[in-house]
Amino acid sequence: MDSAAAVSELRETFAAGKTKSYEWRVSQLKAVLKITEHHEKAIMDALFSDLSKPELESFVHEISFVKASCKLALKELKRWMKPENVKSSFAVFPSSAKIVSEPLGVVLVISAWNYPFMLSLDPVIGAIAAGNAVVLKPSEVAPATSSLLAKLFKDYMDTTAVKVIEGSVPETTALLEQKWDKIFYTGNGKVGRIVMAAAAKHLTPVVLELGGKCPLVVDSNINLKVAARRIIAGKWGCNSGQACIAPDYIITTKENALQLLDVMKVELDKFYGKDPLCSVDLSRIVNSNHFYRLTKLLDDDKVSGKIVHGGQRDEKKLKIAPTILMDVPEDALIMKEEIFGPLLPILTVNKVEDSLRIINGRDKPLAAYLFTSNKKLEQEFVTNLSAGGLLINDTALHVAVHTLPFGGVGESGTGSYHGKFSFEAFTHKKAVLKRSFGGDLSARYPPYTPKKGRLLRALLSGNLIFIIRALLGL
Ligand code: NAD
Repeated sequence: MDSAAAVSELRETFAAGKTKSYEWRVSQLKAVLKITEHHEKAIMDALFSDLSKPELESFVHEISFVKASCKLALKELKRWMKPENVKSSFAVFPSSAKIVSEPLGVVLVISAWNYPFMLSLDPVIGAIAAGNAVVLKPSEVAPATSSLLAKLFKDYMDTTAVKVIEGSVPETTALLEQKWDKIFYTGNGKVGRIVMAAAAKHLTPVVLELGGKCPLVVDSNINLKVAARRIIAGKWGCNSGQACIAPDYIITTKENALQLLDVMKVELDKFYGKDPLCSVDLSRIVNSNHFYRLTKLLDDDKVSGKIVHGGQRDEKKLKIAPTILMDVPEDALIMKEEIFGPLLPILTVNKVEDSLRIINGRDKPLAAYLFTSNKKLEQEFVTNLSAGGLLINDTALHVAVHTLPFGGVGESGTGSYHGKFSFEAFTHKKAVLKRSFGGDLSARYPPYTPKKGRLLRALLSGNLIFIIRALLGL
């Protein structure tokens, strides 16, 4: 179906009011839940075909994530939809005020390849919960998941209001030419700029879920073994580092770096064996373009001799072993762009406090990690480091806390979602004020007189004594 026809059908459905009812929203959220319950195997197979994603990662990071999101929306929807009564102002007495959550209309979700199931459905859940009609454009870089989503949406969803349109750049460009009420895009910042420029033509608001380099700082006097295991889980245990919140580089002191490296080597061997290229617990690199992008980072002259662990690659299997580099110069290619793969440079500093200067000298990250038991350093990071999210003493897990907003700041994105924030991302907060016909204050009408002026000044001051005095003409 072409994009203009799809949008026009969805506009008709939305205008008819179908998507606004609580019952319709519940039926569609239940349909998404059914997709996850009835097709677990097919979803895992598609993710394996696209990324060799280990089943456990597919279940925990994609299927179960979407299920939890759906269940939360179903449980909370009535509360989220309920108008919020708020205090009115004395200046407009007598009146009542409320905030009504209204759907934006017809929205577009453009998703990325690295968590192709979860990154597609999680925003769609928010869009449906908020009462919108929605087009999902999954990533063509994960074709098996994209075509599975297209099929399952046809089988389970109300396609007069919820559609999948598959495709790559030409199809996405055609979609971006349409007028949307919101565009929710997940992917890199270069395309984020294209999305924002297209949206600007129609004054369409956007959520941009982007990426960047997520720093991880390791202080001394911590449990290095636990830290190492958690770093490995957030890096290689998340799609072989092909995750927007995967730690991109470590900053620590020289002394710490050597100790941390020793522990990480032991733990990496335990997790992935002596020949990690054969491990079934590591995703492959998504395609040869990304494989060569990553090997180019390793083959850069500036990092020659810096690989202290791993480095093996298998072009046929598109696999790269967990690789650690030490004392990488800041002008090396690997420090200039988001790695988005299984390579992890360690930068060393004289004292851990210096890390803040390095991080703040770069683009604001999507996630920042600090391993410390020093409360002062922790507070220093909370106060002085701007990032989409800050996680202390672990990696990646903040995405699983639905009461926290998930999104970037600056170059790492704009807007946020997850839990109630997903509902709000697709909702307009409409201000509704109701006045009664009584209490019609003549002071607001001409002819304006000094007495009326005194009364209005008193009313606007909110000071009861002034108001009484003005009313009594004192
Ligand atoms: P991708 O290649 O799948 O592209 C994302 C989407 O953009 C796709 O649907 C694709 O069709 C579309 N697209 C690509 N080129 C386009 C163009 N010229 N015009 C219009 N649309 C176009 O994914 P990617 O960009 O490689 O994703 C990786 C990036 O996304 C990383 O930077 C990562 O950090 C970020 N990311 C962020 C999050 C988050 O939640 N913040 C999640 C995952 C990935």
